[in-house]
Amino acid sequence: MMDDIGRFGFGFMRLPYKGGDIDLDATNEMVDAYIQSGGRFFDTAYQYLGEKSESTIRKCVVERYPRDEIIISDKMPVYTMKMSDDPYEIFEEQLERCGVDYFDYYMAHDPEDRYYEGLCRKLDIFNVMKEFKRQGRIKKLGVSLHDTPEVLDKILTEHLEIEFVLLQINYKDWDSSYVQSRECYEVATSHNKPVFVMGPIKGGQLARVNRDVKRVFASHNDWPPALWALSFVLNLDNVEMILSGMSTIEEVHENMEFIRNFNKLNEDEVRIINKARDLLDNRGEIQCTTCDYCKGHCPNDIPISKCFDLYNLNKKSDRLDSSYYDEYDLICQEHGKASDCNECGECEQTCPQHLKISRELKKVANIFE
Ligand code: SF4
Ligand code: SF4
Repeated sequence: MMDDIGRFGFGFMRLPYKGGDIDLDATNEMVDAYIQSGGRFFDTAYQYLGEKSESTIRKCVVERYPRDEIIISDKMPVYTMKMSDDPYEIFEEQLERCGVDYFDYYMAHDPEDRYYEGLCRKLDIFNVMKEFKRQGRIKKLGVSLHDTPEVLDKILTEHLEIEFVLLQINYKDWDSSYVQSRECYEVATSHNKPVFVMGPIKGGQLARVNRDVKRVFASHNDWPPALWALSFVLNLDNVEMILSGMSTIEEVHENMEFIRNFNKLNEDEVRIINKARDLLDNRGEIQCTTCDYCKGHCPNDIPISKCFDLYNLNKKSDRLDSSYYDEYDLICQEHGKASDCNECGECEQTCPQHLKISRELKKVANIFE
């Protein structure tokens, strides 16, 4: 098991933007701060940031640091592939985009059951990845999954070559019936696979908690809510890596400082997190993690994650705040609005949270239009 700093990976999926494009200067600064604090692990994926994440890893990390001092993790984009796609070509393209000739960690990206039984078997994805590993172009092979514990168990039973599992885990989703973090974590552990964590702060949702939760946290110490969320996953024994999509240099400093000084949670702290979870559950927020996997799939150009984010911010707000309404109006001047949804379902195929997006958009329209 690595030390705590070594267990914290930098996810390239929520990078800062400037003038409509990724802000490379700000990203370089964040990368430097992360590395100076002892971090080495960078995670990307084919689709992240409108397919610009991999090339940004090349520019901001690979071309600026010796290859053997950094760890690069990527994923075969199973959940968006077509039967006609060639996984060999995709893999070569990923190596080229990232500017590397091997990946330290490589995963099948979200082979949820319908893709596992269909596309994965047809294109023989796991055997293809095994071949890359034999060639030395993957060091460690894993799976990243948003599905039930039963599906995870099936995949791990059928594919003994899998060496680690990336799961969405945070204190809010731990016992939820839709994410089932705890059960998935237990399945991975029972197969002796180390767990990598994604979404420890639930796409930022656990940084912006309501007043009741803040009060519970403040009763114990001055950690901000995002760090309470981080402490929950740091505290799990079988967590080898935590991936966090950071957007500001302040987040990098705050996270690294916290992790460096982290000690196991005591009983009181565990109780406080459980209490916070209870207080979060009843606010009727939309369970969107703003991952933007659905971006670019809507024929009506509805900015889905932004709509859900504003809806959730509005729900969490303890007073009427017209700025969310103003922002919604502004966005709708350039994009489709929630009520433009024709329920075609295109976006729902890509959502790792399995949201019924068209239904949730009706709630957004009811509030903001
Ligand atoms: S279901 Fe609605 S939001 Fe989703 S792609 Fe279709 S029109 Fe767009
Ligand atoms: S709706 Fe689903 S796919 Fe789209 S941003 Fe939210 S969680 Fe991601």
